[in-house]
Amino acid sequence: MLKAKTALVTGSTSGIGRAIAENLAAQGANLILNGFGDADEIEALRLQIASQHGVQVRYSGADLSRPDQIEQMMGQAITEFGCVDILVNNAGIQHVAPVDEFPVDKWNAVLALNLTASFHTVRLALPAMKAKQWGRIINIASAHALVASPFKSAYVAAKHGVAGLTKTVALEVAEQGITMNAVCPGYVWTPLVEKQIPDTAKARGITPQEVIHDVLLKAQPSKKFVTVEQVAALTVFLASEAAASITGAVIPIDGGWTAQ
Ligand code: NAD
Repeated sequence: MLKAKTALVTGSTSGIGRAIAENLAAQGANLILNGFGDADEIEALRLQIASQHGVQVRYSGADLSRPDQIEQMMGQAITEFGCVDILVNNAGIQHVAPVDEFPVDKWNAVLALNLTASFHTVRLALPAMKAKQWGRIINIASAHALVASPFKSAYVAAKHGVAGLTKTVALEVAEQGITMNAVCPGYVWTPLVEKQIPDTAKARGITPQEVIHDVLLKAQPSKKFVTVEQVAALTVFLASEAAASITGAVIPIDGGWTAQ
């Protein structure tokens, strides 16, 4: 379905991004992986995806909180493949603290990666997409692009910003065969969620088990974590021809969380 397309998935060494990268490759797309992690494990992942799906797979270790490194990654991708046809802005971090105790460096880091990095990848990807009159931009936002939770001011502000960026760019490029959408997962069991449990427990004065049942799954009427496979399947659909008329959409995949 996506043969001869090139996909760049930010933050694809772990969790949701990794599942998205594997599913796009399964549809025939060449890939640029990005994210942090153990160099040997990333190289093994790169080789495994390439051989399993018969596609070209490159890796960029760019730190996406740094605009200069984003420019380098995007420049390299476009030089090697001609265009990033499918851009998935997925890399993200979380920090949990009351707003009046929120460390300023953490605020800046969350905004830089979860919001500003997408501005840079989008502005750098668009000229080649416009030249081809085809492109798909999928931002992995969050249910927190639509609703808030206490102690996540930076994350919620950044993800709401992603929703605004998504709608704005979608309008700017609507006549050029390019779509831009935001996918808004509820809680997905990944290292990002696992890591915030101790801080949430501390901020709320409850146990880690209570965080899982009384905070995380309480928000989701389905009482189940969303899976990385489900988020990847929606992303692959948005990258397909069938999704050509879906643009500027902010799409929940959250077990009913934001229906409440
Ligand atoms: P994760 O921690 O498993 O993966 C995050 C990825 O981002 C990793 O590959 C990591 O190396 C990379 N990354 C971190 N800092 C980076 C940087 N400075 N530059 C480049 N890459 C960097 O997290 P995840 O749960 O898979 O989250 C992926 C996205 O989904 C995030 O944007 C997150 O906000 C969003 N999301 C997650 C959930 C959830 O419940 N897990 C819910 C809604 C939205």
